[in-house]
Amino acid sequence: MSLQNRPPIVAVLGHVDHGKTSLLDKIRNTSVASREAGGITQSIGSWQVTVGQSSRESEANRGTHKKITFIDTPGHQAFNQMRSRGAKVADVAILVVAADDGVMPQTKESIEFLKAANTPFIVAINKIDLPGANIEAAKGALAKEEVLLEGRGGDTPVVEVSAKTGQGIDHLLEVIELLSEVQEVKADPEGDVEAVIVETERDPKRGNVLSSIVRNGTIRVGGELVSSETGRKVRIRGLFDENNKPIKEAGPGTPVEILGFDQLPPVGSVITSGHILTTQPSPTTHNPQLLPKKRDGFWVLLKADTAGSLEAVQGALGEKVGIIQSGVGDVVEADINLAASTGSPIVCFNIKLGKDIVKYAQEQGVKLYTYKIIYELLADVDKWQKELEEAQSEKILGKAQIIAQFPHEKETRIAGCRLESGRITKSDRLRLVREDKVLGTIRATSLKQQKQEKDKIDQGEFGMYFEPQLDFRIGDTLEAFIPPKTSTS
Ligand code: GDP
Repeated sequence: MSLQNRPPIVAVLGHVDHGKTSLLDKIRNTSVASREAGGITQSIGSWQVTVGQSSRESEANRGTHKKITFIDTPGHQAFNQMRSRGAKVADVAILVVAADDGVMPQTKESIEFLKAANTPFIVAINKIDLPGANIEAAKGALAKEEVLLEGRGGDTPVVEVSAKTGQGIDHLLEVIELLSEVQEVKADPEGDVEAVIVETERDPKRGNVLSSIVRNGTIRVGGELVSSETGRKVRIRGLFDENNKPIKEAGPGTPVEILGFDQLPPVGSVITSGHILTTQPSPTTHNPQLLPKKRDGFWVLLKADTAGSLEAVQGALGEKVGIIQSGVGDVVEADINLAASTGSPIVCFNIKLGKDIVKYAQEQGVKLYTYKIIYELLADVDKWQKELEEAQSEKILGKAQIIAQFPHEKETRIAGCRLESGRITKSDRLRLVREDKVLGTIRATSLKQQKQEKDKIDQGEFGMYFEPQLDFRIGDTLEAFIPPKTSTS
């Protein structure tokens, strides 16, 4: 084991519109980026910048250019999604707070997530170029959230920046470096491989592509990796760096695309060289036992071609439907089995369905819906919701009021009724209602109108004998109804 410093992995969190994306863009464009001129700047979920010599560097370090790896998906949701898999993704986080807006709901959520994950973070007070910027107010609001800043009695570093003008960005990078030095962000290049998946994709040419960041060890073409989520071992067929250039190996702290996985493990899960199991599959994900037993509303399984489109679909669906499970890649038998056991359809986004899987779904009675356009999916969701509501609401087919009673054989009576709405037939389910309380369900065994036996009454007064003989009174109502098709209990 020889532990060496490795580039820190950095995540950016904060409230929407506070400038997370702008900050990442500015860092990427103004720093001496490691990408080569002419390199294809295609996102692989993370990227590195090489930071020039820091003025605070020790003599021994002088001359070594330091790298920082940034995770490209900003936002606490992405951060938490990764964390919920049990993976430690970021070594350091940047909490972006807009100076003109201060602490907002997602700032608070981000702080909670960071504290729960025990991730050291730097506060970046952004948009200081704006006339409405109030840096002191923003800092005061953070203190209320128990974020104790440097210079205010705490030790959380704070940097004032503008993602627009670039002011303070260099300083921010320096502070990231310092913090990761303090945190002793180290790895063993020859140790067991541990890499976190930050993005997955099905590429028509290259097949399954896993974008990951190596936290420990070195991934090599031809080597073996195991997904801690699926337990499957694969041989690495190819590696690509962030410039889309094939490489032979990727060491600690490096963003890398990996080819060779026949199944795509989920974003946030960990791949290893197989000797260590750094995470347990998280109980909060992909675990059918945790499904709510009483499911009201509409529940689906979601599959999409990339993590990006999956996130987009999930975002668009919002609270409209419950998502039992979501994943990237083809629909597999396990998906169908889960869908069958929960009685839910599978919603596929940008996914081609093979004949075999369609057949298997049919056999299992599982519906598969495929979409290429989110709006079409949303339109269907509205339709399903209406159908579900209809199915869940009962229908009243007819109502009659009891206006008289006549003695029948023994202790029983005939109810004299007047139809108020709809119709009443002998095959209807009826119930006796008094002041909004249902006294019981009954069936008409005899319906008589003008001394004639009838099967159906659709107007006027009539006599009815029903069973069981409930103790009805004049003024009670009889309702013919259809119970909900699907009950939520
Ligand atoms: P995100 O939702 O946190 O990723 O925020 P964005 O990066 O999309 O920024 C939201 C808006 O704020 C955009 O219109 C940006 O141009 C603007 N913005 C971001 N940073 C700054 C800044 O430092 N100064 C000013 N004036 N505008 C900024």
